[in-house]
Amino acid sequence: LTQVHQLLQKLEHLACHTEKPSEPISEHQLLHAISHNEITPFYQPKVSRATNKVESIEVLARIITPQGTVFLPDRFICVAEHLDLINLITFQLFEKATNDFIDIKKNLGYNLKLAFNLSPCQLEDLSCPDKLALILKLNNLKPSEIILEITEQHALCSSAQLETLNRLRIRGFDISLDDFGVGFTNINQLKTLPFTEVKIDRTLISHIETDQFSQVIVSSLVNIATQGDLTIVAEGIERVEELEYLDRFKEHILMQGFLICRPKGKIELTRWAKSWLH
Ligand code: C2E
Ligand code: CA
Ligand code: CA
Ligand code: CA
Repeated sequence: LTQVHQLLQKLEHLACHTEKPSEPISEHQLLHAISHNEITPFYQPKVSRATNKVESIEVLARIITPQGTVFLPDRFICVAEHLDLINLITFQLFEKATNDFIDIKKNLGYNLKLAFNLSPCQLEDLSCPDKLALILKLNNLKPSEIILEITEQHALCSSAQLETLNRLRIRGFDISLDDFGVGFTNINQLKTLPFTEVKIDRTLISHIETDQFSQVIVSSLVNIATQGDLTIVAEGIERVEELEYLDRFKEHILMQGFLICRPKGKIELTRWAKSWLH
C-alpha cells in the first residue's frame, strides 16, 4: 500500500511538472514581450484542394524571445485580455503581418486573404472597425483582403458586439466564425449573423470518416454554403483518413491542419506554399 501511495505521489509530482509549461506568463513578462517587440506572427494556410491554391493564411500569435523560446497563445492571450493589453498585441501583429502579407502575395503571384483572430471582448469597442481600416489604409491593403476570425461564445450576444460585427462587414471585412461546433451558435443562427466563413472545430473533424454525427453536421453546412455566400473551413486535419473523407466536399470546403501545414514563420510559409503547388 505504501508503494502504491509513493507511486501516486510520484505521478502527481509528474503531472504538476508537465502542467508548468502551459501556465500563463506574468504581467511583467507580457509587458516586456510587447515593449521588446517579441510578439511575432506565425502563419497557417487554408487551402483549396479543388484549385490547389492557398486561399488564405491565418495569423497565429507567438512570443519569441531573443533566446529563441517560443510561447504559444494559450499562455498569454488570456493574460492580455485580462490586463486590457489585447488591442496592443493585435495591432502589433496586424502591423507586422500586413507587411509580411504584401511580400507573400508578391512571391506567390496570386491573390489570397489574410486572417486574424480577434478576441470577442475586442468587439465591445465600436471604434475597432475604424482603427483596423486605418492601419490597412496605411499599409495599402483593402478590408476585402482581410478575414477576422471570432470564436463563438455565449458573449457574442451582446448588442455592442453585434453592432461591431455589422460595421466590420459594412466596411468590407470578411468575418469568420471560429471553432464552430463547440460553442453556442447553431446552424440556423448562421443565416442571421453577418459571417462570411465558418470554421468547423477540430473536435468535429477528428475521426470524421467514422463519426456519423460529425458527418451530418458537415454536410448540412456544405448545403448552406452552396446556397449562399459562405466559405466552410475544416480545421485541425491531422490524419490522411480525415482529408480523404473531406475531399468529397473539396469544391466547397477549405482544408487546414497539421497534416497540410503546421504554423510557420513568413519565410518557411512562403517556401512551403510555392512547393505545395507541385
Ligand atoms: P484557433 O484560432 O482555433 O487556432 C487554431 C489552433 O490550433 C492553433 O493553435 C493552431 O496551431 C492549432 N492547430 C492547427 N492545426 C492543427 C492540427 O491539425 N492539430 C492540432 N492539434 N492543432 C492544430 P495556437 O497557435 O496555439 O493558437 C491557439 C488559440 O489562440 C487560437 O485558436 C486562437 O483562439 C488564439 N489566438 C492565436 N493568435 C491569436 C491572436 O492574435 N489574437 C487572439 N485574440 N487570439 C489568438
Ligand atoms: Ca482562428
Ligand atoms: Ca479554431
Ligand atoms: Ca480554438
